[in-house]
Amino acid sequence: MSEGIDIKKNILEYNDKIAEENKKLFEEKGIFVINLISAPGSGKTTLLEKTVEKLGKDYKLSFLIGDVDTERDAERLKKHNADAYQIITGGTCHLEADMIRKALSHINEKPDFLFIENVGNLVCPASFYLGEHLRVVLVSIPEGEDKPSKYPKAFKTSQVFLITKTDLKEYFGFNIEAIKSDALSLNPRLKIIEISSKNNEGISEWIDFLIQKRKEFLGI
Ligand code: MG
Ligand code: ZN
Repeated sequence: MSEGIDIKKNILEYNDKIAEENKKLFEEKGIFVINLISAPGSGKTTLLEKTVEKLGKDYKLSFLIGDVDTERDAERLKKHNADAYQIITGGTCHLEADMIRKALSHINEKPDFLFIENVGNLVCPASFYLGEHLRVVLVSIPEGEDKPSKYPKAFKTSQVFLITKTDLKEYFGFNIEAIKSDALSLNPRLKIIEISSKNNEGISEWIDFLIQKRKEFLGI
């Protein structure tokens, strides 16, 4: 009866062990690592394109992009001359720490920031620590306000919550205060930023926040 549970436990224990090794490596090299998780279509890649534009002017950025079977998102970033590598999971609906470890040989050795775009899914990416310093969960306005209560683990394990596509809020009658208070009731320490990649709302706040967090990580 418990065999399935044991297998799952072993997978997660193995994953955590590799994630700790990743984290150690990132610390040695001074790479600040951000893991973005969300449902498909919340605007992760679009936000990363914006991030290349702004943050990429002053810092070296690298990107690992998870997808079940296409290279589209990494191609989008490469159009901005970004150092991006696509991790194709071959059906797996989340990234695992050893996928990150293996992918590191395909990107620059010592970027200032490494962004990991997880596979579009709010469930299991929350259970797989990759060795990141910052976990960011995104919900876009068209997805609705009920995401925190439906996927609590994603909110409990993240440090940042981005509400994206805020330019659409009037059309969807979206109650931003309600989703914020739901998210904060799960995780009172969440940093919340409202983002519209379309009209640049929140982009500077996002960039400044990343720079600040990297400084704290480096102790400077
Ligand atoms: Mg994407
Ligand atoms: Zn999965």
